[in-house]
Amino acid sequence: MTFQNTREFAQQLDAQDELKSYRNEFIFPQHEGKDVIYFTGNSLGLQPKRTKKYVDDVMNDWANLAVEGHFYAEKPWWDYQERFAEPLSKLVGAKPSEVAVMNTLTVNLHLLMVSFYRPTKSRYKIICEEKAFPSDQYMFQSQVSHHGYNPSEAIIEIKRREGEHNIRLEDILSKIEEVGDELALVLFGGVNYYTGQVFDMKAITDAGHKVGANVGFDLAHAAGNIKLDLHNWNVDFAAWCSYKYMNSGPGNASGCFVHERHHQSNLPRFAGWWGHNKERRFKMEPTFDPVHGADGWQISNLPILSLAPYLASVDMFAEIGMEKLIQKRNQITSYLEFILHEIATEVTSTFEIITPSNQEERACQLSVFLHGEGRSLFDYLMSNGVITDWREPNVIRLAPVPLYTSYEDMYEFGQILKRGILENN
Ligand SMILES: *Cc1c(COP(=O)(O)O)cnc(C)c1O
Repeated sequence: MTFQNTREFAQQLDAQDELKSYRNEFIFPQHEGKDVIYFTGNSLGLQPKRTKKYVDDVMNDWANLAVEGHFYAEKPWWDYQERFAEPLSKLVGAKPSEVAVMNTLTVNLHLLMVSFYRPTKSRYKIICEEKAFPSDQYMFQSQVSHHGYNPSEAIIEIKRREGEHNIRLEDILSKIEEVGDELALVLFGGVNYYTGQVFDMKAITDAGHKVGANVGFDLAHAAGNIKLDLHNWNVDFAAWCSYKYMNSGPGNASGCFVHERHHQSNLPRFAGWWGHNKERRFKMEPTFDPVHGADGWQISNLPILSLAPYLASVDMFAEIGMEKLIQKRNQITSYLEFILHEIATEVTSTFEIITPSNQEERACQLSVFLHGEGRSLFDYLMSNGVITDWREPNVIRLAPVPLYTSYEDMYEFGQILKRGILENN
C-alpha cells in the first residue's frame, strides 16, 4: 500500500480498520481534554473498561461469600486459573495443559530455571542476548552463583556486531554450536525489549536441542504481540508478564509454559500445595504428587484479584484472535515507520530507527535513536500528550498497539514530532 502523510489518509485507514471499535474499550489518560497518543503499551497496557467488572465480581463474591467463595463464587477461586488454559494456550501456540498462570515473570523464570538449569561440572553455560532486560541479567548471575559457578565464565552473551543494532541469527546459532556440550541452557527474549527485534525461536530451539541444552524464552514483549507456536517449536519452557501488551494492570500475574514432554518427567522443582494433585489437594497429604501439566509448577493458592484483570484481557484477546491483531500491527507499524521517514526528510533530522525494517524481525515497536535532539525532544513529546519512554543513551521506544491506537494517532504524532524538532533546533 502507498501511504500518505495526511490526516485524511490516516482517517481513511481508521475507517477501514476492523478493530477500530476496540479503541473504545480502553480508558485513555487525557491531555488537554483529548486522549493521549499512547506508545507505551509495551510497558504498561491501557486499562480495558471491562476489567472493572471482573475485579468487582471478585470483591463482591468476597463480601458476600467470604471463605465460601473458594467453591461457590460465580467463578470459584479454587480453580479460577483454569479459565485461562483454553484461551491463553491459543494465544501462545500451546496445549491447554502446557500453560499456567501464577506469580510474576522473573519469579516464574527463576522457578523454571530450578527445573531447566541443572548445571554440571562439564555442562554449565547459559547463552542469552546482549543487553537482556536487567531483571534477566540479575537472574542469570544469581542462578549461576547459587549453583556454585562463576557468572563471568558461565554466562555467554550474544553480541551485536560492531556498528549494528541487532543480533544476527547466524551469530546466535554458531555460538550455540561452538559452546556445544558445555551448554546447559539457552534463555533468550522472544522480542528484545530495547530494539524490538523478534528472534527466530524455532531455529534457536532446534540449535539448542541439537547440542543437548534446554531452551527457554522470556516472552515479556512477545505475548499478545507476535505469533507464538511454543508447542510445535518444541520450546522447553517460557514465561511472560501480562501487564505489557496484555493490559492486565501494574505488576499483575505472569503466564508460563512447560512443554508436554516434561510433564511426567522427574524434573526437580520447588513445590507447594497448588501444584499438588488437584483431586487430592485438600486432603492435606504429606507427599507431593504434582499435577501433570504446567499447573504442577504452581506453588501457592492464586492471587485472584491479580488474575481477574488478566482474565478480562485474555477473554478480549480470545474474542479477536492473534491473526487480526498481527495484520493491523504490521500495517500500523509500517505506517508509523513511513511517517518517521517523511518527517526526517522534512526537517533533515538525524534520528534513526534501530528496529529491523524487515517485517519478519519486528512486531509493534519501533525504537528510535535520537542522534541530535535527545532528551529535550522526549520531554517535548511528553508535555504535548505523546506518551513514550526514554532509554539510555538516546532511544525512545514507540509501540503502536493494534488494539487501541489509531492511524490518526500516527499522523498526529508526526506533526508533534516535527514541531518538537524544529523548536529544539
Ligand atoms: C518487563 C520485563 C520483565 C519484567 O519482569 P517482572 O518480573 O514482571 O518485573 C522481565 N523481562 C523482560 C524481558 C521484560 O521486558
